[in-house]
Amino acid sequence: MKAVVKTESGYDHMEYMDIPEPEATGDLVKIKIAYSGICGTDLHAFKGTYASTKPPVVLGHEFSGIVVDVGPDVKNVKVGDRVTSETTFKTCGVCPMCLSKDYNLCGNRQGLGTQINGSMAEYLVSREESVHVLPDNVSLLSASLTEPLACGVHSVIEKGQVQPGDICVVFGAGAIGQMVSQVAKSQGATVIVAGLTQDAERFKLALAAGADRCVDQMQEDLKAIVMEMTNNVGADKCFECSGAVPALNKALEIVRRKGTVVQMGVFANSHESIWTDLILHREIVYVGSRSQKPSSWKKAIELMRDGTVVPEKIATYLTPLENWREGFDKMIAGEVTKGIIVLDDSLK
Ligand SMILES: [Zn+2]
Ligand SMILES: [Zn+2]
Repeated sequence: MKAVVKTESGYDHMEYMDIPEPEATGDLVKIKIAYSGICGTDLHAFKGTYASTKPPVVLGHEFSGIVVDVGPDVKNVKVGDRVTSETTFKTCGVCPMCLSKDYNLCGNRQGLGTQINGSMAEYLVSREESVHVLPDNVSLLSASLTEPLACGVHSVIEKGQVQPGDICVVFGAGAIGQMVSQVAKSQGATVIVAGLTQDAERFKLALAAGADRCVDQMQEDLKAIVMEMTNNVGADKCFECSGAVPALNKALEIVRRKGTVVQMGVFANSHESIWTDLILHREIVYVGSRSQKPSSWKKAIELMRDGTVVPEKIATYLTPLENWREGFDKMIAGEVTKGIIVLDDSLK
């Protein structure tokens, strides 16, 4: 089968090539892939700056497709099921994090598209525990973005505990910021998306998907806007999805006393100083949100089923597998918010 493989560490070293089809042994489910999202971590893998990637490996961990075979130990998933899958392929199964199903925090976790062959290929195998059968009304295109949506659910609902009426500021208008914005809206919050002048197109996507206000911080004073909207109290919750330390410091500055700041972004330069005094003197709850876990997936699929969140609204660029390089280039250049690789769009 055709696949996009990271053949060795370092910059690029990626190839569109033929590899053997995987087999559905044990508890594995074999999936014919319909769509595979291009994630920021795939771009880091391309650049050779993502330490978790263990080449040679097929990239891709955001996908949907149809089950074509199941191993002898598979109990509930059937051939023909429309599915997506969590990225967890293997965990230690015995650590406290595994026992509470916080698989995102297991120190011995192995994931699809990083250590185990991922979804930028015609077929993939995933363990049954990770596979989710889709409701009929959820499109395979939207379902391919369940993983970034689940990251948004983990951050907004499980970590940020957003309530109806909360005023939320989302820093970053990329795919994760867009998912966080949509999930916060689904919970009844007022949502402000903060970005830069280059985010103009992304702001349009965010507004079309329900965000209340977008702020270009190079042209407008975010703090003044938030203070005016909150009678000088500050935002209830801020979500850092841009990976920039100055954005985190701005979040600490505009969140209200006893407010919550959730960090999802990964900082390239973690030596820049964070305004920790504000955390202390204003009793800010500063919390990390790392990827997603089984409970986040369950909720993400419910939100799609209910139609309160429609991930495919951000899928503005689709391209076939052999054209993967253009997709990566456009994502790296910031020309598209979310690139999707099409493996087989005849699957419904
Ligand atoms: Zn991802
Ligand atoms: Zn574990």
